[in-house]
Amino acid sequence: MLNFDNMNFKQDDEIDFLPIMPLTENMEDDHFEENLKDEIGILALKNTVLFPGVILPITISRDKSIKTIQDAYASDKIVGVVAQKESSIEEPTTQDLMLKGTIAKILKIIKMPDGVLTVIMQGKCRFEITTISQETPYFKAQFKVLKDTGKNNTATFKALIDSIKDTATKIIQISPNIPVQASLFLKNIDNPTFLIHFIAGNLNGDMNEKQSLLEIDDIEQRASLLLSLLNKEFQFAELKNKVSNKTKIELDKQQKEYYLNQQLKSIKDELGGESNDKEIKEMRKKAETKKWGKHIQETFEKGIEKLERMNTSTPDYSTVYNHLELILDLPWDEYSTNEYDIKKARHALDNYHFGLEKIKDRILEYLAVLKLKGDMKSPILCFVGPPGIGKTSLGKSIAEAIDRKFIKISLGGLHDEAEIRGHRKTYIGAMPGRIIQALRKSKISNPVMLLDEVDKVGTDYKGDASNALLEVLDPEQNANFYDNYLELEYDLSKILFITTANNLQTIQPALKDRLEIIDLSGYALEEKTEIAKKHLIPKQKEAHGLTKINFQIPETTIKTIIEKYTRESGVRELDRHISAIMRNIALNYVSKNEVAKKIDLEILQKILGKERYTTDVYQKIIVPGLAIGLAWTPFGGDILFIESTLCEGKGDLKLTGNLGNVMKESASTAYTFLKANYKKYKIDPKVFNEQHVHIHVPEGATPKDGPSAGITILTCLTSLFANKKIKPYLAMTGEITLRGQVLPVGGIKEKILAAKRSGIKEIILCKDNEKDVLDIETSFIKGLKFHFVEKMDEVIHIALGL
Ligand code: ADP
Repeated sequence: MLNFDNMNFKQDDEIDFLPIMPLTENMEDDHFEENLKDEIGILALKNTVLFPGVILPITISRDKSIKTIQDAYASDKIVGVVAQKESSIEEPTTQDLMLKGTIAKILKIIKMPDGVLTVIMQGKCRFEITTISQETPYFKAQFKVLKDTGKNNTATFKALIDSIKDTATKIIQISPNIPVQASLFLKNIDNPTFLIHFIAGNLNGDMNEKQSLLEIDDIEQRASLLLSLLNKEFQFAELKNKVSNKTKIELDKQQKEYYLNQQLKSIKDELGGESNDKEIKEMRKKAETKKWGKHIQETFEKGIEKLERMNTSTPDYSTVYNHLELILDLPWDEYSTNEYDIKKARHALDNYHFGLEKIKDRILEYLAVLKLKGDMKSPILCFVGPPGIGKTSLGKSIAEAIDRKFIKISLGGLHDEAEIRGHRKTYIGAMPGRIIQALRKSKISNPVMLLDEVDKVGTDYKGDASNALLEVLDPEQNANFYDNYLELEYDLSKILFITTANNLQTIQPALKDRLEIIDLSGYALEEKTEIAKKHLIPKQKEAHGLTKINFQIPETTIKTIIEKYTRESGVRELDRHISAIMRNIALNYVSKNEVAKKIDLEILQKILGKERYTTDVYQKIIVPGLAIGLAWTPFGGDILFIESTLCEGKGDLKLTGNLGNVMKESASTAYTFLKANYKKYKIDPKVFNEQHVHIHVPEGATPKDGPSAGITILTCLTSLFANKKIKPYLAMTGEITLRGQVLPVGGIKEKILAAKRSGIKEIILCKDNEKDVLDIETSFIKGLKFHFVEKMDEVIHIALGL
């Protein structure tokens, strides 16, 4: 590169290159060459080529060189300046010198205090050493002057000179360390040869290139070579500029960030927020242990960078912080190994559950299929049945059987879609959906997840929660489950989902379609007794720290609890009562250090209070117009009283007791049927015109619906119209048609067990329901008499003897 910047003389090595200052361009000295002697002193320059016309200030310190200069200065002030072939040679011999150089005139010598000479000289003409005539004490040589050839007024030459000027100016412009005045100086040089020499002398290139320039005789060729060297320089300067600009921009950016961070820090200090450095450090450390994918890493990084810039006391800070905490807490690809040991599974199921043989078999079949298939893409198990029947505990045993963590999510009363899909982070109090929350707790990506009460998931203005649930359970979609709060996809496909429901009817149809329904009906007295003996009592004993204390709860006490203190299909109430007994024993043991060895009925009453239920419901049936039906509810079976009465009116029918449409229709059907068949049942037809009939089903707070009360309503009305009491201890269930046919209904086991609990002795059912009765273990229905009928006539005959 052209070098104009260093204008200070510097003392250096021996003869050092110093900035070449063109003090003048007046090279024409007509008599100069004529006055030259035959022999001149030779000055060797280490890394500089002097060109004619150019003024060069240099310092010299080598003895040989000092002598050359001193002798020359003392005589004609003329010296032959040549370059050394190698700049590293300290004591050059004749072979180390270039033979072509420039004859110079010494303009001034300045002696420095340390013996070094500063010499200012001006190149005059090119020359060639012909013979070295002396080597010591300094080189002397005979020479010939080299004349420039070629024309300096051709168009090509002029164009060349213009280009040289332009290129040199451009180099000056883009080189930050060349003063801009240099281009002004260039502009003012009129002598083209001087221009060439001046630029050549200032070239930043190779010594050899400069030497070649000097050696070319043809002025046009010299200009041409110079131009190509300049172009090379220009490209290099441009490149250098680009690189330095780029690094400068990068540096600027870094500096800016540093500066902003410092500012932010001081703003944070001013605002008094606590430093979050420690939290962030801990989060980063935790993140290093995670095996998550690139995408999650990126989201985490983004979040943490944001956190670093935030003030800890702003509300946004906790939003970002909580989000990152969730990402860190969630298990990502952390699986427990799949273990489908069917033997172990059978053992776990048997260990915790009495009976339920068919159900256990179905669960094992299901697990066997999962084992063979190796994925979770099979229908989802759904345990349907009343509360306290062991649905949850079956789910737990499945998890234990296959060695996975168990999590339960209660979905009862869930309507808001966001409870499943999560709330958007921007909402106040936003949270992830329940699935993600559960996974966060479980710390494992493939737990057994029990979704409790899927039948109670609904739809409202906040969206369709059951649709969201469907997405969770659908193996085609759940690998990319997106939670709005998490803002990332999560793979749910490895989770073993199990669902539970009380009522099959209220499960959303599309959801039901995905489920493999396993029906669990209520337990009979005998089963409950066994469950209490084998499972509930030992479990509660342990839970209350009473394993080492000797006492007994005899079977009669257990049966009394079941019959007189509970009225349920499952065993939850029973379990609670047993727990109450255990608490009482624990208190006695701790306070009095004594316990009853046997919890007899007297002690039981002291602990649980007066009996709550009676099995004898018959005493209530003392008037005509009252019949007992059997009903199925999501909480198990129950008996249903249907009351009716007559009063003066115009023969219309009124229904009360929170009845649904189907039940109302059953009542109209029964009424019409009796109107049509009054003769047969010895009914006074006036009743249909002159009397008002009111049917009421008590416990009006509970909604009731369904066709199964049909035969009960008809029997109830017949009893009312015929003024005849119904046979004692009789209950019934079945649908009626206008023509007096009896149709089958569902929930038979639950209904029969409920009838037995209430002390019913005879039951009327449709003939088609006989098979359902046969499915029930005979010991559970011992003492019950069944009438299987097809027509209403039979029902009325059994119930009223008509
Ligand atoms: P659900 O989920 O159906 O409402 P749970 O599974 O919570 O009922 O059962 C309530 C209690 O009854 C649990 O302690 C459970 O262990 C017990 N239980 C229910 N059925 C059985 C059974 N067949 N054998 C042993 N214990 C049972």
